[in-house]
Amino acid sequence: MDHFNYQGGVLCAEDVPLTRIAAEVGTPVYVYSAATLRRHFGLFRQALDWTDHLVCFAVKANSNLAVLKLMGDLGAGMDVVSGGEYARARAAGVPGDRIVFSGVGKTVAEMRQALEGGIRQFNVESEPELHALSQLADSMGVTAPVAIRINPDVDAKTHEKIATGKSENKFGIPIARARQVYAEAASLPGISVVGVDMHIGSQLTDLEPFRQAYTKMAGLVRALRADGHAITRLDMGGGLGIPYRRDNSAPPLPIEYGQVIRDTVGDLGCEIEIEPGRNIVGNAGILLTSVIYVKEGEGRNFLIVDAAMNDLLRPAMYGAHHDIVPVREPLPGTEVQPFDVVGPVCETGDTFQKGTQLPALAAGDLVAFRSAGAYGAVMASEYNTRPLVPEVLVQDDHFAVIRARPTVEEILNRDTIPEWL
Ligand SMILES: *Cc1c(COP(=O)(O)O)cnc(C)c1O
Repeated sequence: MDHFNYQGGVLCAEDVPLTRIAAEVGTPVYVYSAATLRRHFGLFRQALDWTDHLVCFAVKANSNLAVLKLMGDLGAGMDVVSGGEYARARAAGVPGDRIVFSGVGKTVAEMRQALEGGIRQFNVESEPELHALSQLADSMGVTAPVAIRINPDVDAKTHEKIATGKSENKFGIPIARARQVYAEAASLPGISVVGVDMHIGSQLTDLEPFRQAYTKMAGLVRALRADGHAITRLDMGGGLGIPYRRDNSAPPLPIEYGQVIRDTVGDLGCEIEIEPGRNIVGNAGILLTSVIYVKEGEGRNFLIVDAAMNDLLRPAMYGAHHDIVPVREPLPGTEVQPFDVVGPVCETGDTFQKGTQLPALAAGDLVAFRSAGAYGAVMASEYNTRPLVPEVLVQDDHFAVIRARPTVEEILNRDTIPEWL
């Protein structure tokens, strides 16, 4: 459920008509609903209310400071994958002891930043990383709290580019080697082992891969405890999918996901961490765009909109689907026709959807890409020197620009022409 509905014939974000945002901010623009963010966070919290837990929002899904502040104020922790994301979480007011640091390529500078600024745990993904972290922490006279990311070798049954829990993926340590690596970790001076971490992929629409992975995790925890490790924390990762099509059967609910966690690891007495990103913010955002031209092609009509692949990369990168809806509500019985919805960028890949059924639209009309709150603005670029797409946050009947559209002048000023040219 989200808060983007028609009211009085106009698609609204909560109680703000998208026509108003388009008029005041221009298009393309991302629009997020605060009520939807709060609701989704609450569902995860509720799903784990049977145990000690921390819901760590996956910052990479949407890292706008206003979004992070909203989440942090609700009590969320943060899962960060770079020093930049760590800085964002801290700038949004999230204390270090609620931040977990994931990622396969943490640099020494990033690890130092987190150790100095405060960190809940590092999710360590390799032995070289473990040694580098130990050496650094030891040299600083501290110990680094660590969970080791285990690759459980399960098939997440999701898009190949976002599956992370098969043995051929670059993520984590193979489960068969886990005991050996934990023994090594325990012997290192700068490391304090606190838990076990997994993250098997994104946009999972079936609970079975989670159940398989977490069952393996439970077995591993028992073995590690028998080896003498005090495992007190389990990080279950993120990955619960969302409905990208309104007409489709919905993926499992957070409450059902929480039950799988309880069934598999609930008896171990560990504090539970989860790292949802997409499920919290995906359906809390839309990308609002204007029609530039309606172009009649041979055998097909193109809707050329002012958003492009640089603003919303998912369709070009993963063949992802976003429902596209007109902002003016079509009257019942309005005839629809197929359009190929495309952006202005000079790449054939800049096609959002083919054959989308839409009512007759004209230049200047507004359309919205639904479910664009996650992996949308964060993946945007300035390809074709298109200014980075702005972001707006709505709450009730008011909104604020939470990232302004840069001017072309600002973009040009970032470049430098050497004196010797
Ligand atoms: C991307 C990622 C997440 C979030 O995944 P979602 O599918 O957005 O829930 C969580 N943890 C790690 C380690 C990730 O890389």
